[in-house]
Formats: sequence, C-alpha cells, structure tokens
Amino acid sequence: MKKYDLTDNDINILKNKELFLFDLDGTLYNENKLFDGVLELLKNIKDSNKKYIFLTNNSSKSVSKYIKKLKDMGIVSKKDDFFTSTQATISHIKKNFDYKNTLIYVVGTRSFKNELQKNGLNITDKIVDNISILLIGYDTELNYQKLIDASFLLTKDIAYIATNPDLVCPVNFGFVPDCGSMCNMLYNASKKEPIFIGKPQPDMIYAILEKYNCTKDKAVIIGDRLYTDIASGLNANIDTICVLSGESTIDDIKETKFKPKYIIDDVSILNKLF
Ligand SMILES: [Mg+2]
Repeated sequence: MKKYDLTDNDINILKNKELFLFDLDGTLYNENKLFDGVLELLKNIKDSNKKYIFLTNNSSKSVSKYIKKLKDMGIVSKKDDFFTSTQATISHIKKNFDYKNTLIYVVGTRSFKNELQKNGLNITDKIVDNISILLIGYDTELNYQKLIDASFLLTKDIAYIATNPDLVCPVNFGFVPDCGSMCNMLYNASKKEPIFIGKPQPDMIYAILEKYNCTKDKAVIIGDRLYTDIASGLNANIDTICVLSGESTIDDIKETKFKPKYIIDDVSILNKLF
C-alpha cells in the first residue's frame, strides 16, 4: 500500500486529463535509474491517444542527448516529446533581441552551446568587445575562467539571462549545484541577478498548451520540486501533482507556499488512471 495515493475522486478527475507534462530528474528517474511503472505509464498514455511532454529545466544536455539518455533507460522518444529550458531560452532571446546581430557570451556545456548555435544564435566563449548578453546554463563543465569572464561582463551594462533557477540537481548520492547556485556565486561577486527563463515561469507551459491546442483544464504537470515544477503549474493555472520520489518531502509540502493539488509517492500511481 502506497502512503500517498489518489482517492477514487482524484482518479475520476485526473482521468479527464489529456496532456501530461512530466519533469524528468526525480520524477521519472534518478540520474540513470528509471523509476518503477514509468514505461507502463507512458505506454498507457500513448495507448489512450493522450499526450505527454518531458518538461525539464536541465540545460546541461541537448534534446538529442536526452533522446539518447532516455533510450538507454528503455524509453523511445523524439525531439517533439521535449521542452527544455534551453528551448525556452532560445525563444526568449529570439523574441526579445535582434538575435542575428546579438553576440552572446555563454557559460554552459558544449552540448548547450551546440544547441544555441544550431538555432541560429551567435555565441562566444571569449571576451570580445561587442557582447550584449551574458547567458548562464547549468554548466557541468564549469571552470574558474568562465566565472572570471562572467564576473567581468557583469561590470558592463549588458543583458543577463539564466536558463533555470534550480539550486541543485539530484544525483545518485544526493545533489550537486545547478544553474541557480552558479548565479548565486556570480551574485556575490556582482550583486546582479539574471532573468531566469525555465520553470517556475509559466511560459514553457503556455507554449506547449498552444502547440497542442490544449485547454488548461485538460493539462496537468507532474514534478518533484515545489519552487520550479509545482510553482510553474500554479503560475500557468493548471493542475499539479507532486511526487515524493525526488527532492520534496511531505514536510517541505506542509511548509511551502507552492501547494500541489495532488501528492503521490511516485508516478507509478498514475497507472490507476488507465
Ligand atoms: Mg525534478
């Protein structure tokens, strides 16, 4: 018997959902270990002609790397199944800047930089004169020179953007610092804070609802983190499910202002909807 389960009434409501937005780390897997019931759940959603999207704030991997990572865990996916904070950041820059004439200094992984370039953004990892944006991703290849360069650029009047505010990322032994923590280091040096793009901003959710022509009442977000996943659902005004398989504990949920509508031990419980 699961400790945090859905009631019959919850199941009846959730049966009407057509679009399932899944966080990845801590929700469907931990590092490289897929949680029980995930494959069955994704199959159930597909078989009932419903849709799921993987919605992740993790900007250290490109979509093609995610496809490979999920494949290694037994999930067949395609590009359209994902919406990452990298994609949201690319849209933000294209919408708000004359991006063809904008040079961006990027603190991020090679995979992140490749994805930016593939999407037509002009990037550099050298300090040159005409840089107009400093962009920080979750950089698992971070080194001190990048921090020096970023701190230098923050003495200038340029735009400052970060892909996601997450402080930590779950790994098999606990947590490692994520993009939000990198920005905290830079804040200590510069007293400047970036615009954060990923969850909890509702924009990623709005973009998906529009793309799939789905109304808010038919969508639900499932995640393990209150201040990003659950907050983004609340900001977008869609239903939220918090899983206890990742970062948040029941005590965290009691204390937070980001209250999920439903709390379940893990995603395997959602198989009851099918
Ligand atoms: Mg997560």
